Amino acid sequence: MIAIRFHGRGGQGAKTASRILGTAAFLEGFVAQDSPIYGAERRGAPVAAFTRIDKKPIRERGLVARPHLVMIGDASLVQDPAARVLDGIDERTVVFVNSPLTAEQFQAQTSLPGRVTTLDLTETALQQFGKRSAISALLGAVAGRLVGLQEESIREAIARELADLGLAVSAIARNQAVGVACYAAVPMVSVTAGPPQPFPPAALQVPTYESPTRGTARISAAGNSMLRETGGWRTFRPVLVPDKCNGCWLCFAYCPDGVISMTKEDRPVIDYAHCKGCQICVHECPTEALVAEREKEGGVAWKAK
Ligand code: SF4
Ligand code: SF4
Repeated sequence: MIAIRFHGRGGQGAKTASRILGTAAFLEGFVAQDSPIYGAERRGAPVAAFTRIDKKPIRERGLVARPHLVMIGDASLVQDPAARVLDGIDERTVVFVNSPLTAEQFQAQTSLPGRVTTLDLTETALQQFGKRSAISALLGAVAGRLVGLQEESIREAIARELADLGLAVSAIARNQAVGVACYAAVPMVSVTAGPPQPFPPAALQVPTYESPTRGTARISAAGNSMLRETGGWRTFRPVLVPDKCNGCWLCFAYCPDGVISMTKEDRPVIDYAHCKGCQICVHECPTEALVAEREKEGGVAWKAK
């Protein structure tokens, strides 16, 4: 069996990537299983998805605790203990990170266990689609390459899964082309299959239920949300171009996290320690006075500047 765990942020497409991988494996005659896990819906919050691939029927269910391959769709998740991307990784695990850094640079900065490979899917999505978050086909294609699936299966799986989501034919074709390009470009580190996770030798299996706090935010004391610095979620930061701002307050009204305050001169001030980088303010600003700038650290570290 090969067990794959995807990590991403809400809106990036980790769940769709896991489905693309599972469908591609199914098209090649494997047994495949995929499922996601996410808590309260929130754009930018950590999410995970799981795919299992085997030649035999798959008896395991639930989250993948000891993955053979980990696909990290957003490098900032490595620094986020709540995302638990490092759970169950050992020196044999292959870890893919969506990052502009090379594998050597990334490991030097993070001491990430496992065998690391990287590719900058965010920049590719930005250049090819004009959208930084549309990486599901790219992430699924890279995973397919790392587990040894054929390019044609990946191409077909992208078409099927994106058609199910209602994408236009032209958009699907574009995703196929870019996905296949990423498939070819990722530095190859082969994933080694392993046995299924051992069950205890009991006749009757008792399912293990995850604590609700694993997938759901826990509020253990009133008024402590300021302590959760969601600035670490950000891949792109909104930056004000003061000359273009007309002081309309729309960014203030649209920010879902209330991290924009307005000066007496009607100019926005962004709290970068808590801005999660959703870019809604950039999208809604009528004068393009807010622009998205990519964080320089490649997701390895961030600072409120
Ligand atoms: S939405 Fe744009 S123009 Fe309006 S206050 Fe915000 S930055 Fe200025
Ligand atoms: S300031 Fe802009 S990018 Fe940051 S959380 Fe608010 S809407 Fe999203």
